[in-house]
Amino acid sequence: MPDAPASAQLVQVFANTVDVECGTDDLDTARKLDAWLRGQGLLRGRERVGAQDHTLCLRLRAGMREELGAHVGDSADPTLLHEATEALRELPVVVTIGVGTPSALSPAPHLSATRKALGVLAIAWSELSVTGEAARLKRCSEHACAWVFWDTSKNRSRRWCSMRVCGNRAKARRYAARQAGGTRNPD
Ligand SMILES: [Zn+2]
Repeated sequence: MPDAPASAQLVQVFANTVDVECGTDDLDTARKLDAWLRGQGLLRGRERVGAQDHTLCLRLRAGMREELGAHVGDSADPTLLHEATEALRELPVVVTIGVGTPSALSPAPHLSATRKALGVLAIAWSELSVTGEAARLKRCSEHACAWVFWDTSKNRSRRWCSMRVCGNRAKARRYAARQAGGTRNPD
């Protein structure tokens, strides 16, 4: 069972700041985003997260979550993907060499502290995409859950964060639909 690389863990934690099942969002205000970035060690110093960067961050997260849903076969909303791509344009990265950083990529030096912090999320995402590991990071196929999980299965075939809970929920719904004579696939 391969452990999720650090970049996957960061994207996962970021994506799961919204909890669909509980209806909570840990980043629903700029102030909360500020606290979250500091908690993750991504933001230091006096600068505070502003409204514009907060919006940019939410767009980034929404697009990432759409793409992670596509990994279990959900169709991604192209508007959300587009908005996230636009957000990424505001977070340019530069390639660095021989400076002892864990990544060859770092946020462009001219960026504000907040954008540098968001840039680290963008870099984590790009690392996953380049290595092909992004395919293991998925949004649970059970839409009432939508939790982002790391698929440790050999053939990367998992669709639910937990077979015991979400997998069985989907199965029970399919069973009920069959009993009712329905032909619609509830997934
Ligand atoms: Zn789930």
